[in-house]
Amino acid sequence: MAILVMKFGGTSVADLDRIRNAAEKVKREVEAGWKVAVIVSAMAGETNKLVGYVRSVSSLYDAREYDAIVASGEQVTSGLMALTLQEMGVPARSWQGWQMPMRTDAAHGAARIEEVDTAAMLAKFEEGFDVAVCAGFQGLAPGNRIATLGRGGSDTSAVAIAAALDAERCDIYTDVDGVYTTDPRLEPSARKIERIAFEEMLELASQGAKVLQTRSVELAMRYKVPLQVRSSFSDEPGTIVCDEEEIMESNVVTGVAFSRDEAKITVQDVEDRPGVAAAIFGPLAEANVNVDMIVQNISDDGRTDMTFTVHLDDFERARATIDGARESIGYAGLVADRDVAKVSVVGIGMRSHTGVAQRMFSALANDGVNIQVITTSEIKVSVLVQRKYMELAVQALHAAFGLAGEARAG
Ligand code: ADP
Ligand code: ASP
Ligand code: MG
Repeated sequence: MAILVMKFGGTSVADLDRIRNAAEKVKREVEAGWKVAVIVSAMAGETNKLVGYVRSVSSLYDAREYDAIVASGEQVTSGLMALTLQEMGVPARSWQGWQMPMRTDAAHGAARIEEVDTAAMLAKFEEGFDVAVCAGFQGLAPGNRIATLGRGGSDTSAVAIAAALDAERCDIYTDVDGVYTTDPRLEPSARKIERIAFEEMLELASQGAKVLQTRSVELAMRYKVPLQVRSSFSDEPGTIVCDEEEIMESNVVTGVAFSRDEAKITVQDVEDRPGVAAAIFGPLAEANVNVDMIVQNISDDGRTDMTFTVHLDDFERARATIDGARESIGYAGLVADRDVAKVSVVGIGMRSHTGVAQRMFSALANDGVNIQVITTSEIKVSVLVQRKYMELAVQALHAAFGLAGEARAG
């Protein structure tokens, strides 16, 4: 059975006309002979609205009820998409996460997919249904509860279903026509990338490029799912995310990513001894706080400062956790800065080229952007800057690494 996966994001199913537009694309693939698994997000803005309801009712909410509420957006669009297809004469039915079922772990709000059972879906394809419309973002957690996969999680639903169905391809339809050298909303000269390596896409996504959820790229890489990011509103070919061997020429830097909402915490005057980092970061890990950049200052008289960054959403939890562990850590004070952003340059060419960090630092210096923290990996350099300089930093780096598209005439 030749199966295709087509995922439509929130803007692509934002109203009934857009659902019809997406359904037309699905119909064309069915007419070309494919069985199609369509994965849908909630209508644009719907998940934010539902999250807002939860937060208005309860600040320290029960994550299982959060999931019951926020998963409902996808239930609506999956039913509407199936109905729209039926009206067009395409045999289709909807599948909620629990109906497949797509089993997840118990980490409500950010659950990981453990298994996708495709037997029932495949049986329906055999029976003559051409399309299975799957609600993205949701699965079934232990205890028979609905789970959600974290914001942007429909991308991950799509890739997991593509892997489980051994689909020919997984196309992610969205409101941009591919992966760009940086977010085209921030830098209009950003250029569409024809092919990008899984590793690069993984770094860009994890450093803030929300065009794909990080876990979707991880899964696609692990299960070798051919992935394409393309537009719902045109028929242009999109960006292929593939193995690096399939890319002819690689730039030193492929893209610039940014994460606007970061926070920096400095634990002041801790003893410079074995175990102090564990005393700080152990409780943070237990509290499910995702720590990103970490720096330890040079020791002065056996005392030192430890600085780390977290996403702004985790800031209060991080501060409360460190406060709670004050005795075991033994520090003099905490300094917090909620006014920082992270900017990263990514490229597999960095493995074989030196001087990327230096070029990055000079470009930022030329524009007067002060760097607060630096981290590197084999294919990435990230810097932390004051939030108000984030746009400037992205634009400066985009230009410094020659990423801009060709200037258009006129
Ligand atoms: P969907 O609702 O379809 O899942 P998202 O809003 O999650 O769409 O992701 C698409 C958005 O990602 C684009 O509108 C764009 O603003 C943003 N984006 C960030 N970085 C990039 C990038 N490097 N290339 C393309 N889009 C990007
Ligand atoms: N609707 C969910 C969100 O807005 C999942 C997704 O769109 O991927 O995060
Ligand atoms: Mg998305």
